[in-house]
Amino acid sequence: MNRSEVIQSLLPVLRDELVVCNIGLPSQELHMMGDQPSNFYMLGTMGLASSIGLGLALVQEARVVAIDGDGSVLTNLGTLPTIANNVADNFTLFIVDNGSYGSTGDQPTYAGRKTSLARVAEACGCERVVECDAGQAAEALQDALESNRMTIIVCKCDPGNIPVPVIEKHPVTIRDRFIQAVRRANG
Ligand SMILES: [Mg+2]
Repeated sequence: MNRSEVIQSLLPVLRDELVVCNIGLPSQELHMMGDQPSNFYMLGTMGLASSIGLGLALVQEARVVAIDGDGSVLTNLGTLPTIANNVADNFTLFIVDNGSYGSTGDQPTYAGRKTSLARVAEACGCERVVECDAGQAAEALQDALESNRMTIIVCKCDPGNIPVPVIEKHPVTIRDRFIQAVRRANG
């Protein structure tokens, strides 16, 4: 299974959650397969889906899922100690680890070689870290949401991209409808 198949498998699990999605193809795939106002697509901030997701989880009560990538987390490794030391039990970081920088042409990342992001997260102090295979992605996310504990999921999958259109919605539109979704989620 590749990243797009993993994201597709998560859609039935993502119902009321606020979703912050990694820049590039992951956002384009999520937009194509399951666009909704509660999705916030990164359009110019590589590496920051996890940071924005944590911040959002800390300041309001609805559950937040950040869908990130291995290359993106490696770009912003400081995010993991920040997450570990600022626990938000309504936050799940789902790292799609395909061992490649998918959006720029599938160049290999170090997460596909010697570096285990799950072990890095644990070493940073993250208390609930789950590594899973692509076929277990939806179950791992469901378990994380039901645990009501902050969880870092590292989902190993194959590299590879599918043809997917760019997101033509204006960033202000994406922002504004997401703000409304956040307000609705908090009653
Ligand atoms: Mg990747």
